[in-house]
Amino acid sequence: MTLLNILHYPDPRLRTKAKPVTKFGPELQQFAEDLLETMYDAPGIGLAATQVDVHKRIIAVDVSENRDSPHILVNPELTLSGELLETEEGCLSVPGVYEQVTRVDHIEVSARDPLGEPISFSASGLLAVCIQHECDHLEGKLFVDYLSNLKRTRIRKKLAKQRKASA
Ligand code: ZN
Repeated sequence: MTLLNILHYPDPRLRTKAKPVTKFGPELQQFAEDLLETMYDAPGIGLAATQVDVHKRIIAVDVSENRDSPHILVNPELTLSGELLETEEGCLSVPGVYEQVTRVDHIEVSARDPLGEPISFSASGLLAVCIQHECDHLEGKLFVDYLSNLKRTRIRKKLAKQRKASA
């Protein structure tokens, strides 16, 4: 098991649009396990490959209390439905920052697992929000993009200060 290095905002590599996975199998399975382990270690409830500088369409999510219900989604496609829901989001690439973001509260997910088997399920509430957040990463989008310019500037300053303090 390898812990992967997580990129931090405003690293330009977080803006890369991920490519669809075409090669499934043990190698991808190994990467998926590393991604999941990195997420648990951080600790976080979701991590996209983009955040560890791997630009393939793969995300790891686990919103369960006991950290025992992981979803590994390869080439995820979402159908959004339901009501709008405002929740507080955070991101392992934007450490220490939590802001309200509005998303839909219900999604239909279709994806593949790392071995290429199709997966489909519906999700609501926190799981739905988390999957939407991670899929945004694959498009090079961050949750801070939903905030005002002023808030984003404040966040960049805060993170720069944190980096200085820990350097
Ligand atoms: Zn994130």
